[in-house]
Amino acid sequence: MIQYINAVTQSAFWLLVRVPFKEACSRIWTGVQMTYDFLFVPSSHVDMKEEVRRNLVCGACTVYNRKLNTCGTPGQMMLGNTTMGCWCSLTVAARLKGKQCWAREHDWDYGW
Ligand code: SF4
Repeated sequence: MIQYINAVTQSAFWLLVRVPFKEACSRIWTGVQMTYDFLFVPSSHVDMKEEVRRNLVCGACTVYNRKLNTCGTPGQMMLGNTTMGCWCSLTVAARLKGKQCWAREHDWDYGW
């Protein structure tokens, strides 16, 4: 729980600092919706096998932040000023059917 709070606090802070304000607000709102679904909408969850598979893939991913259990490290940017990873907490993201892997979204030959 402390790890999750630390992750979302750092992500929200760095989104507001490093990403254009409108995009930051949109991404923070998406995070709020994801947290709601995680907590209150069981039908939005993948099954346990898929969640384990996703967590194993993330654990071996080059952008994975083990300390925070996040996709990428909040505050870390790529060339072109886009975020390295989505900075989502994987405690939540790996469990939601609607969440896409950041690497796959960016056409990397890796991810879930
Ligand atoms: S890019 Fe995909 S595989 Fe890598 S940490 Fe993020 S969600 Fe996991």
